[in-house]
Amino acid sequence: MQQLDAAVNAANDAFTAWSALSWDERSQYLLRGAVVIEQNIDSLAYWETREGGLPIEFAKAEIGAFSLACRYFAGLRLPEEIVEDSATRRVRVIRRPLGVVAAITPWNFPFDVLSLKLPAALIAGNTMVVKPAGTTPLATLQLGRLLATVLPPGVVNVISDANDLGEALTQHPGVRKISFTGSTATGQCVMKNAADSLKRVTLELGGNDPAIVLDDANAREIAPDLAFWAFFHAGQVCVGLKRLYVPAALYDELCDELAAIARAIKVGNGMEAGVQMGPLQNRKQYERAKLFLSDAECDGTIIAGGNIIEGPGFFVQPTVVRDIEDGSPLVDEEQFAPILPVVKYRDLDELIRQINQSPYGLGASVWSRDLARATAVAERLNCGTVWINKHCDVAPHIPFAGAKSSGVGVEFGEAGLLEFTQLQVINVPGPSAVSGPSNPFAH
Ligand code: ADP
Repeated sequence: MQQLDAAVNAANDAFTAWSALSWDERSQYLLRGAVVIEQNIDSLAYWETREGGLPIEFAKAEIGAFSLACRYFAGLRLPEEIVEDSATRRVRVIRRPLGVVAAITPWNFPFDVLSLKLPAALIAGNTMVVKPAGTTPLATLQLGRLLATVLPPGVVNVISDANDLGEALTQHPGVRKISFTGSTATGQCVMKNAADSLKRVTLELGGNDPAIVLDDANAREIAPDLAFWAFFHAGQVCVGLKRLYVPAALYDELCDELAAIARAIKVGNGMEAGVQMGPLQNRKQYERAKLFLSDAECDGTIIAGGNIIEGPGFFVQPTVVRDIEDGSPLVDEEQFAPILPVVKYRDLDELIRQINQSPYGLGASVWSRDLARATAVAERLNCGTVWINKHCDVAPHIPFAGAKSSGVGVEFGEAGLLEFTQLQVINVPGPSAVSGPSNPFAH
């Protein structure tokens, strides 16, 4: 707790000078951050793979994406807007930083998730306290150490915990905004705790992303991409593909293709070359996955995988489940495990209605050879992002938001940058403004 106070105080102390720099000056610092990250990709990836299990080549790509986000935000500016410049008044709208921003991140992608927060917060003039998940603090601590070599002291502070400082950070009077990524239940706590001091919040929460295959799709062609986004990082991806809806005409073929791909995925230690999927990161998630496997056995037919892998580590076989329907926990809930339910649908309108009833609304994808038809379906889905013929294509210039219980606010893109600022209006009289007879107090 003392270290948390010290971190918040350091961020507050650094805020005055950091926020007084020009955008160009802060941009130079961010670019130096990007360079130091690029120079240390191997060691950062080592820590991420060792603590999180993501195969090392994916970890390197993720860290590369972090530095790209630094470069993107280093190039963004929020110029002042003049909303009126008339004889009677001149009104400028400017964007000020908020103060200390706390970033609270989960264990699945320490860099990706922080890339949604840190570059935007810094370029806008805020300072930060970053708290990674208790189970994966090392990669983020290492990142903080590197950034400290190029940023002024106190601008970025990383604290680690045993999953017990989030609440205190959310309630801390020295913090002005919480940018949180994690489960919906914890996001609700964050919002409640932030209310007392009216902190700004941005919440990126759970998702149960559906992929809808239309009846003109080519099952063989789309199967590898569908499988990738279902099994990437053992399914521990907020915007991973969590449930797949397939029309009757393509159902058997696509199920067989997916099962064949799942059986061929090389599972193992992410430090070893050629490994495509690692373990689940923590025991809690592993125990949940086992429950989903028993649900799958009762509610559907397992056509690939279906078991844990005995031995050290929380390994689960890539699993494909067919003949399963909405109403089974594996379809209705976010599994966060490499267990893909494939649901047969007959009526597209009914399917869209049913999908829109989910409390979640993070991402979705539609798969078809007919773009116009796929787009028409996409526009009827109530979620933050719909991809067509792909899934989970996220980039720093593309705004990213969740609908319903999947989030509050926006990250990435200019819309995401605005969320790290306070709007201020400067309103002055114009050359012919008069406080003459129209003002009854004039004398
Ligand atoms: P997960 O993503 O593991 O399901 P959480 O959403 O609980 O779990 O965790 C995401 C992040 O939120 C972690 O850094 C965790 O330590 C932090 N956290 C846990 N409980 C709280 C809380 N009550 N308030 C703020 N942050 C929390």
